[in-house]
Amino acid sequence: MDSTGTAPKSKLEGKVAIITGGASGMGEATARHFATHGARAIVIADVQDEKGQNVAASIGPNICTYVHCDVSDEEQVKTLVDSTVNTYGRLDIMFSNAGMARATHTCDQTVLDVDLSAYDKLMAVNARGMVACVKHAAKAMVEGRVRGSIICTASMAASMGSDRFVDYVMSKHAVLGLVRSASLQVGSYGIRVNCVSPGAVGTPLLKEMLGSENDEEVDKAVELSSNLKGGVLRPKNVADAVVFLASEDSQFVTGHNLAVDAGFRV
Ligand code: NAD
Repeated sequence: MDSTGTAPKSKLEGKVAIITGGASGMGEATARHFATHGARAIVIADVQDEKGQNVAASIGPNICTYVHCDVSDEEQVKTLVDSTVNTYGRLDIMFSNAGMARATHTCDQTVLDVDLSAYDKLMAVNARGMVACVKHAAKAMVEGRVRGSIICTASMAASMGSDRFVDYVMSKHAVLGLVRSASLQVGSYGIRVNCVSPGAVGTPLLKEMLGSENDEEVDKAVELSSNLKGGVLRPKNVADAVVFLASEDSQFVTGHNLAVDAGFRV
């Protein structure tokens, strides 16, 4: 309650959101945060159907639903956005977060051995899927006259090179170009476009990248990439930044790349 006896408004009260890659990791943590912050409807889109359905059920069927959507397929992305708008009347937030770490295990994707068909598969999800989500979300917001917020998941790999995984690094650099351009192209409609750049976070994707299922080993790698004392970077810490970018707290922030990387790139 404030001094007038009114309860403070929740940050995302009444908002309708789509979260791609919401069945796991940072997408799942963000879905839970959006519910806590008062979102009216959260649509989780993913290709892991059982996991996605379980996450939606645990958040609550009145708030959260699961939709199968492979973001590399534009028709599926369009259907996802259209069905959300038809069901809830509008789209306020698109968290375009789905991504993959590697599409081959036969090589490390250095520039000397890069497998270009694996490159195409990864780019189809991490770059093509990202622009499809931004495109259809922005179109729905323009048509619905909604001053919405679009947030993409980039990475610290969007701003630096790596000794491996040239395809992943390129795909995340592409996200920065998308966010910078899209923010200029839809700003006149009052739509904001930003991205978060997480550091290493112990999710299935990082385990895939490190080639380890051992939680202690993965936490060690996360700690090694931190320049900040006081704990290990977790999905919920990234979700806090996404809530900020989704809410009115960031109403004049657009075209921005918000690093949540415990100072790794400083
Ligand atoms: P995660 O594996 O927990 O989640 C990724 C989700 O994306 C999974 O649920 C997966 O099924 C889904 N997905 C993959 N391909 C898809 C497709 N074609 N269509 C729809 N959904 C698809 O991993 P995470 O770490 O939470 O990854 C989320 C995002 O964060 C990714 O874009 C990733 O590149 C980025 N990221 C991760 C880290 C890290 O260290 N974990 C660091 C920086 C950026």
